Amino acid sequence: MARLGSWIEPFPEGIYVKPADAWVDPSQTKPQALITHGHSDHARGGHGAVWATAETLAIMATRYGEQPGWPVAYGERIRLGEVEISFVPAGHVLGSAQIVLEHAGERIVISGDYKRRPDPTCLPFVVTPCDIFISEATFGLPVFRHPDTGSEIDRLLHRLRTEPGRCVLVGAYALGKAQRVIMELRGRGHDEPIYIHGALERLCRLYEELGVSLGELRLATGAAKAELADKIILCPPGALNDRWSRRLPDPITAMASGWMRIRQRARQRNVELPLIISDHADWDELTQTIREVAPKEVWITHGREDALMHWCRMHQIKARELNLVGYEDEDD
Ligand SMILES: [Zn+2]
Ligand SMILES: [Zn+2]
Repeated sequence: MARLGSWIEPFPEGIYVKPADAWVDPSQTKPQALITHGHSDHARGGHGAVWATAETLAIMATRYGEQPGWPVAYGERIRLGEVEISFVPAGHVLGSAQIVLEHAGERIVISGDYKRRPDPTCLPFVVTPCDIFISEATFGLPVFRHPDTGSEIDRLLHRLRTEPGRCVLVGAYALGKAQRVIMELRGRGHDEPIYIHGALERLCRLYEELGVSLGELRLATGAAKAELADKIILCPPGALNDRWSRRLPDPITAMASGWMRIRQRARQRNVELPLIISDHADWDELTQTIREVAPKEVWITHGREDALMHWCRMHQIKARELNLVGYEDEDD
């Protein structure tokens, strides 16, 4: 009997699905690519043909210009070569999907990046039982336990209220995290205009077009210093300490990231108010997900594999590390 999953082959640049002649999230350009979500380490421009959710295709078009793409709705089944393929919500960012592959009586789920926490900007992760579950392990260590998102947002709002005259500058990745922080603030009753760095504008506008209402956003560039006092301003992490931020009124520097759990990372970026808000599963979510999906094998694409491999073996699940390259921790 053939080895389980013998029809897919992991290469350093991505997973090749032989009977479909297609690659999943390849880091190099390929004739046919299935893309889990729009983060740049998973969705590169320039493939010959792309299958992805309509949202992911729209994100790719915003970043790279129009791509030769075929939208696949959640739950829709398509056939490529000899493989039945469907896309299932991954709960990571708007449009993010797990890719479900069925061939030779086996089902393989490639989860891409995922999380289990509620996210007001996207559909929640759907558990799909399978033979092989291919998972990330960005936060695959028991020390990573993300706190409740609401309490992190409350800490932000508390600082804003207790330090009048200052502003809170929040570093957040342009795709997903920025819009989620805005929506979480709205959900906590913060109705005031939120100011954004110009680099966040296009994706915020795209989210709006795709039906995620972010409330009143204003560009921080061009706003008078006095106008920005007592306001929340979002920028990409790279702009937190650059010249751009010097014209803001005495900013309280914050950053929304799963890595803020590590004090050293917060210090490196001069972050005064670390907010542990992640778009990836923490240790408990990773192990809970594997329990629920109940696969025969777990293959780990990237991250901190060792502890999760060990956990799988303790639970009688075969585990294997794939060592894919090119996936960064960028989109935490
Ligand atoms: Zn991602
Ligand atoms: Zn990623």
